[in-house]
Amino acid sequence: MRRGILGGTFDPPHVAHLLAGEAAFWELGLDVVTFLPAGAPWQKAGLDVSAPAHRWDMTCLAVAGIDYFEPDDREVAREGWTYTADTLDSFPSQEELVLILGADAAAGIRSWHRWEEVLGRVSLAVMPRPGAAPEAVEAAAGPHHLLDTPELDVSGTMIRRRRRAGATIRFLVPEAVLGYIESHGLYAR
Ligand code: ATP
Repeated sequence: MRRGILGGTFDPPHVAHLLAGEAAFWELGLDVVTFLPAGAPWQKAGLDVSAPAHRWDMTCLAVAGIDYFEPDDREVAREGWTYTADTLDSFPSQEELVLILGADAAAGIRSWHRWEEVLGRVSLAVMPRPGAAPEAVEAAAGPHHLLDTPELDVSGTMIRRRRRAGATIRFLVPEAVLGYIESHGLYAR
């Protein structure tokens, strides 16, 4: 079993998350890509993050209909801060895990709780991202698979800001996620 793991705040899940999962699935011959919304992301303590229930629902909508993508609620269901090291421990040891990250996250991986354990447990698939230098990824994360994707200058922050400003976010997020954001009044002005 080769499992891709793509964690994030997913506030909201957007086109770059899906593209990273898609590229990793095909380039690395994975069996499944597991999308894990973070419960209480410690690196975003004090920041304004949407309720876990909203981020979970949007993640389910984002991956619906793609049979090799699955949402996983083990982080949103857990009390306390979310640490990737604990999450990885909760998968069976015989599974081969590929952690799928943006280049910014990969460059910062040594700031993670128990990062050496994380790097010992997984191999890495990294999606290039504007502003994140390949050398910084190499220095922090060591050997990794660089995904063959275009760089997309998209982030949750940018999508929330556009929404607050009244700009369209259609096609930056899946249509069902857009519908959810509209019907729940998320990121309202
Ligand atoms: P925010 O602006 O709210 O921090 P984000 O989209 O950057 O949002 P997450 O939802 O936490 O952040 O991202 C989850 C994972 O997806 C991280 O590994 C991140 O690096 C990666 N990712 C997000 N956007 C991109 C992008 N445009 N290109 C490459 N990787 C990305």
